[in-house]
Amino acid sequence: MSRARLLLATRNEGKCRELLRILASSDVSPGFQVWGLDDVPSFQQAPETAATFEGNALAKARDAAAATGLATVADDSGLEVDALGGMPGVLSARWAGRHGDDAANLRLVLDQLADVPDDRRGAAFVCAAALVVPWRAQTSGAQTVVRGHWRGTLARAARGGNGFGYDPIFIPEGDRRTSAELDPTEKDAVSHRGRALRALLPALRELLSQPR
Ligand code: IMP
Repeated sequence: MSRARLLLATRNEGKCRELLRILASSDVSPGFQVWGLDDVPSFQQAPETAATFEGNALAKARDAAAATGLATVADDSGLEVDALGGMPGVLSARWAGRHGDDAANLRLVLDQLADVPDDRRGAAFVCAAALVVPWRAQTSGAQTVVRGHWRGTLARAARGGNGFGYDPIFIPEGDRRTSAELDPTEKDAVSHRGRALRALLPALRELLSQPR
């Protein structure tokens, strides 16, 4: 039987690697042939202007699904720092001013927290994951959006070579290592992205059970 096509609409390499890994380890993996944005004709991607992770994830998935006609998964994620009132939040990818400059973003957060004591260095990674099925248009199951959450604290200096973005300064609750010091599978088992994608599995299973 032919496999259903599923588009992963992200150009962030770190996120893409994790999304592929998490999907590959799930029970729906044999049913899908996963495509990336390089596998489809290019299209205009709207800027991320929503005030919430869910809004941005849905906008990314809707744009890509409308342009390609493919069932599409997209995520929007970021770091919420307690001492910064929940920022950088949806601005995490461009906190230092230039979109996607991970090193500058991480340095800026460390500088902003330089005088914040250990007991007030709490933070959370948040990920909203959206599935949009374009041929279902306005019917139920046309779009699903879910959220994953990962609590921790922020270190005073970067450590570890795995992961991406703010991983070298994020110490997950119950651990002493930063998330950049976790093995990829350890991160996936507890991360905001792992939790969000696993929360999307019922909708993906339903898609396989009722193909186009
Ligand atoms: P966006 O979802 O494309 O807006 O980008 C999210 C940004 O949040 C990334 O550029 C990273 O800086 C940060 N981020 C999201 N998830 C993670 C993660 O798992 N580890 C480290 N940084 C992350």
